[in-house]
Amino acid sequence: MQIITDPVQMQDVANKLRLNRQRIGVVMTMGALHEGHLSLVKLARESAGTVIFTIFVNPRQFGPAEDLHRYPRPFEKDVALAKSAGVDYLFAPDVESIYPELFQTTLSCGALAERFEGVLRPGHFNGVATIVTKLFNITKPHTAIFGEKDAQQLAIIRRLVSDLNMDISIVAAPIVREENGLAVSSRNIYLSSQQHSTAGILYQGICHAEKRLAAQEKNLGTIAAEIEAMIISAPGCRPEYVSFVDEATFEPAETAEAAKEYRLLLAVSIGSVRLIDNGKFRT
Ligand code: AMP
Repeated sequence: MQIITDPVQMQDVANKLRLNRQRIGVVMTMGALHEGHLSLVKLARESAGTVIFTIFVNPRQFGPAEDLHRYPRPFEKDVALAKSAGVDYLFAPDVESIYPELFQTTLSCGALAERFEGVLRPGHFNGVATIVTKLFNITKPHTAIFGEKDAQQLAIIRRLVSDLNMDISIVAAPIVREENGLAVSSRNIYLSSQQHSTAGILYQGICHAEKRLAAQEKNLGTIAAEIEAMIISAPGCRPEYVSFVDEATFEPAETAEAAKEYRLLLAVSIGSVRLIDNGKFRT
């Protein structure tokens, strides 16, 4: 595995790979690697001969009150994990090379970025869209793998690629979970062991939705309210949003129609830790 920190060198390598007719798959992360990230590498391998893995904690997607400075950065450990997962190139630039002094061009997402996470994290998805576009231009992938864990981000990236005619195929990776159903996340280290076991409530909510839909409940608002009540009754838990969306449009959905796909989106605070999760259902 070759480690590259210079964007120009990375672009050079990507150009040469393309000239040699190599298919490039990219996996973008903020590091602090876990099983979820490594599952994306496996999928990249299936669709590309060369896997480029990026690690960059993007300051432009953090709000002023968020955890940019305490975000975990165990670089040496990440290098070892990426290598053992079979990554070919690890691209880990510093902030100055990505956002030099005169940097000023950013992307602006539309309405999709203003709901759910966008309400609580203004500007977050513009920051995500900008870095993802820069990393696409630097790594020149044929395919890019993103986790369903960040379902709204995935929807926005699909929109970005389609709206701006980017010739990249986006692959969605299923959510990797811990034993109690908690979605694996770099931020889970912020949870105490008590909070960690309480956090299983998000997955219990998703399972509850599955059961209620299987029992033909059509009122999605009712199901969401039941899940909210479950979360409120868990110690130290505060729901931020619990909502169903139409999987095709990401528009909020109130009534389940036959033969459609819906996604339940959840954001929950446990103490000072924010967790997001989601589940996809077909009626
Ligand atoms: P992050 O480092 O948190 O920005 O995540 C980088 C990529 O890994 C994103 O595409 C995430 O959606 C994906 N990811 C994070 N956690 C998981 C998980 N538990 N299962 C699958 N993919 C994940």
